[in-house]
Amino acid sequence: MGDTEYKLIEEMLPLLVADEDDEFTPEQRESAHKFKKFLDHLPGGFFIYRADKSEELLYANMALVRMFECDSIKEFAEFTGRSFKGMVYSEDYDAVEKSITQQIMGDNSDNLDYVEYRILTKKGNMRYVEDYGHFVQTNVGDIYYVFITDATVKTTMRQRDVLQKLEIIEGLSDNYDSILYVDLDTDSVVPYRMSKRLVKQFDGEVKAKPFSWVAEDFVNSWVHPDDQQTIREALSPEYIRRMLQDDRSFYVNFKCLYESELQYMQLRVVDVKNNGHVSQVVIGSRNIEDEIKQEMQQKNLVERALEDARIANNAKNTFLSNMSHDMRTPLNALFGYLGLAKKNIGDSEAMSKYLDSINNAGKQLLDLVDKVLEISYLDSKDFHFTEEPCSLIDIIKETCDELAPLAKKKKIDFTLDCPPEAHPEVYADKEQIKNVLMNIASNAVKYTGKGGKVNFLVEEIPSASSEFAAFRFVVTDTGIGISPSALEKIFDPFEREQNSTHSGVFGSGLGLTIAKQIVESMGGSITAQSELGVGSTFTVVLSFRLSEKKETIEDTDDVEAFVKGKKILVVEDNEINLEIETELLEDLGIIVEPAENGQIAVDKMKVAKPGEYLFILMDIQMPVMDGWEATEAIRSLDNPKLANIPIIALSANAFESDKRQSAKTGMNAHLNKPIDIPVLLDSVQNIVMKKKK
Ligand code: ADP
Repeated sequence: MGDTEYKLIEEMLPLLVADEDDEFTPEQRESAHKFKKFLDHLPGGFFIYRADKSEELLYANMALVRMFECDSIKEFAEFTGRSFKGMVYSEDYDAVEKSITQQIMGDNSDNLDYVEYRILTKKGNMRYVEDYGHFVQTNVGDIYYVFITDATVKTTMRQRDVLQKLEIIEGLSDNYDSILYVDLDTDSVVPYRMSKRLVKQFDGEVKAKPFSWVAEDFVNSWVHPDDQQTIREALSPEYIRRMLQDDRSFYVNFKCLYESELQYMQLRVVDVKNNGHVSQVVIGSRNIEDEIKQEMQQKNLVERALEDARIANNAKNTFLSNMSHDMRTPLNALFGYLGLAKKNIGDSEAMSKYLDSINNAGKQLLDLVDKVLEISYLDSKDFHFTEEPCSLIDIIKETCDELAPLAKKKKIDFTLDCPPEAHPEVYADKEQIKNVLMNIASNAVKYTGKGGKVNFLVEEIPSASSEFAAFRFVVTDTGIGISPSALEKIFDPFEREQNSTHSGVFGSGLGLTIAKQIVESMGGSITAQSELGVGSTFTVVLSFRLSEKKETIEDTDDVEAFVKGKKILVVEDNEINLEIETELLEDLGIIVEPAENGQIAVDKMKVAKPGEYLFILMDIQMPVMDGWEATEAIRSLDNPKLANIPIIALSANAFESDKRQSAKTGMNAHLNKPIDIPVLLDSVQNIVMKKKK
């Protein structure tokens, strides 16, 4: 403070604080009066009080009196008790005192202080004030003279601003367990929110601390040794500044040790004030345990999906290579025997042998194609079971009868244990049941060496409902057996223990997959036990709805005699197929009338005499008009005797949906290509002959 200021205070102070009756010269009184007037006209409050315990107010200007909503200096003096303490709102007083003392005592050569506090006016209104004080030692003692301004509007605005900011931070940082406000320039940090860990660094108090110290102590106290160096670096001002040069924020993940428990944490550093260089940042830390777990779960899922895809791909490749091998085997045989047949065309004995072999190879190929088709059909949504009354005993007997020749050839002791008292009549999908039983029984015969044993046991087991009967079908053999690893995957598609070269038996590796799919779709189960070199046991358990006893329709009519000499319409666009079919049918004494497509067949029917054709054998896929359209056209002919002619589909379209479509258009049966004469005759017997009766 300059000398002039001192002089003025030295001179004026006694006058300002003087009583009326104090001895002063008229000049002194005059200048004191002018000075008081000047002070009263100041736009802000001004007062002087003693810098001792009494804090006695020595002077107050009118602006201060008005600030306290008092009418006169007297009223103000009474209201405040003539002391500084009486001016300050009681709750703020201690903090104000402490702050003033600290500022004056501290490194403050100017003896200036600045405090903010609240005052309560005479009318009971709360105001915020800013107090600029000056401590001076004078001839009337140590005093403070103070300028005071009303900062209520400013403070409430600021508070609202701060509150809003806090609310925003609160809202956005919900999952951050600690938030620090860091000033990199002054190396200070204030906690806005403290986690259980940070309580240690801040002694649980919201106060400023040196940031470098807090960072180092935090790293040493909590961060896992693996990550200490990383976090130490991430919290260094140089690193923070570098990372925030172009971006608003960055984060680093780390492991933390809290109460000897490992936690996954993340620190996020956000640039909040950038005066040309990064100065103030907010650092938040949060637990990312759940995210890490989720990430890991997702990673595992992806890895598992990749692994599944790899396994599926391998299985597919193995399947394709087995398939191509298994297709080549009969194809090679086919071409080989064709070559031999050509060479020995005159040798009828050799020819017949070759043709048999060609026939066998063709059957193998057909079996393979059928199975692949069947599995995709079972997988499709078209698949559904048909339920019809049937005899389980008949199905089992048929299966065993069909296998008997092969078993006999291999000198296998093939026995059937089938108790006569079992419920023989049930509702079931006969074809599919036979498919399953045939598969496991034929495998038993196929994979059992000469002189081995195969037993087919059927037993009725207790059923949960009287309307249903449950059965166990057990096929046991003394064959080659299956290794444990192959047994595990025996029902999986595309899996075969060895390809046909190794096992010496032709197979697609799809039979058991198909069997399992059928059995499980029917609500049953299929299991396998086996020991290499000892034998295998396949067990199927199924429940069936019971049916009343079936009337036995004994049909003794000779179908071959029935068809002999009859004329049929064969609708087929493929020349080779037509030739083969014609030859086979003509062998039965049937007269074949060909039609190249559906349209020609319809035209022929239009001009046919009723009963001219016994039935129509109709291909489906044909140019001009297909078999279904032709059937619909024939069924709508005017003459009912022509319109109702039996029509049997003979088609390569073997899906259930195709069969349904055939039935829908009015066909009487749907047979699969290539033509199988016994099957055809069966159909003729069922459809044409019964219709005739
Ligand atoms: P495949 O057409 O190859 O016989 P399957 O699905 O019916 O196809 O059988 C798959 C594989 O299971 C066979 O290739 C064979 O290795 C093995 N297998 C099935 N049944 C038996 C059995 N009774 N004894 C030994 N091995 C068997």
